[in-house]
Amino acid sequence: MLKQQFQDKLMIITVKENSEEKDIQDLLGYISSMGFSPRVVQGENKKIIELIGSGKADAEDFAKFACVEKVHRIQKSYKRISLEGDRTHHKIKVRDLTIGGEKLVVMIGPCAIENFEQTDKTAALVASYPVNDNIEGYVLRGGAFKPRTSPYAFEGLKEDGLKILREVGDKYNLPVITEVMAVADIETVHKYTDIHQVGTRNFQNFSLLDALGEVDKPVLLKRGMSGTLEEFLLAAERIVSRGNSDVILCLRGIRTFNDAFRNDVDSVDVIRLKQLTNLPVVFDPSHSTGNREAIIPAAMGAVTMGIDGLLIDLHVNPEQALVDGAQALWPAQGEALVKSLDIVKEAQLKAKKEFISAQEAKKIAEKK
Ligand code: PEP
Ligand code: MN
Repeated sequence: MLKQQFQDKLMIITVKENSEEKDIQDLLGYISSMGFSPRVVQGENKKIIELIGSGKADAEDFAKFACVEKVHRIQKSYKRISLEGDRTHHKIKVRDLTIGGEKLVVMIGPCAIENFEQTDKTAALVASYPVNDNIEGYVLRGGAFKPRTSPYAFEGLKEDGLKILREVGDKYNLPVITEVMAVADIETVHKYTDIHQVGTRNFQNFSLLDALGEVDKPVLLKRGMSGTLEEFLLAAERIVSRGNSDVILCLRGIRTFNDAFRNDVDSVDVIRLKQLTNLPVVFDPSHSTGNREAIIPAAMGAVTMGIDGLLIDLHVNPEQALVDGAQALWPAQGEALVKSLDIVKEAQLKAKKEFISAQEAKKIAEKK
């Protein structure tokens, strides 16, 4: 199986518009008979067939079919998630929410679930925040398995914490996200969560990534604190290559010589990620900066750069927080945050339109 994956070829066939279904079926039959497993994906405008396997045929063999517009051979090492050929950005459904559409998804809540009351109060606040043309909705965050640098620090309530998170999420109709640290915990976490979070310390824990490739819920993968974008994308590719295509990338700051904040803020990397991959990208201003004052400005900055969503710490009483209180918003700041995001998202969409029409004007001028 591994040897075969090593030899895999990957191509993307773009199907001609208005092709007859019979012609598409003929092509799919040929693809399978040549030893590939085809996957039909309906993109924003075009239908594509992703072709994966160690089959015998090559690009030229497919090009002769009537319904084939073009065949693209994937160049990148992260083959299943690269934004090549006519692939378009992948949208992920989490209950009623879409991550990776035009609107922002805000994942917010305490760093760690501490007790029922704290989680319930947080969720009540979050559920009162507005949903509108710029904000798709909210996901309640909260860690029950906490990776801590000190072995003496609070490591989370484990399954008791998961139960609280789920109960409160259901009470306020909020999807939930929580971290899974080990393969042995996946089954337990899976019972309660809507999204599995992989933390920065585990971003190259290959057995964890392989196992999450087999679950049927989305995975939010945080960038390793010293991980390059290539390593980050290959970690995501690993999950997708095992069968789970719903991976959300999360920028959360990296370690550099810059000691201004807890980490060096890498939110601008979303621009590069959007050029390279079809996966949605979110940003965590809390773990990036470690500094309450910086959270809202850093979040707004990330929105201008085209982020699909945010992951933010908010605590009902940050002074008493058992984990990461200094980087959690106060309750009153939560409302200021969502109002600010709304304003900036609106502006970003307008600016994006300007950019697109400038690009189109350039193309028209070049054709003349
Ligand atoms: C977290 O989001 O709770 C967390 C531990 O983040 P990171 O893995 O980015 O440090
Ligand atoms: Mn934290």
